[in-house]
Amino acid sequence: MACKKDHSQIQKIMETLPTDQGGVGRHKCAACAYEAGFEAGYNLNGSLSIDNVLIHLEESQAKSQRHKSPHAAFALGYYHGVCQRTNDDN
Ligand SMILES: [Zn+2]
Repeated sequence: MACKKDHSQIQKIMETLPTDQGGVGRHKCAACAYEAGFEAGYNLNGSLSIDNVLIHLEESQAKSQRHKSPHAAFALGYYHGVCQRTNDDN
């Protein structure tokens, strides 16, 4: 099943991600991986593993997130989530 979520808000971020056609998570939705990473970083959920996330993601949809690395997306989302939390605390 291809992902049907609206990822229009993060297309600019998706464009900055490297492409990755190999390994676990290939063809998974990088935009969903980014959002899962953001949630994990924002909520300090460091126990959430990337492999566990990737298994449950939908297949990628077209547009900027196509063929992007879900690993990089998750890591970037996590980073942004941590930054956002730090900002909100101040
Ligand atoms: Zn998605």
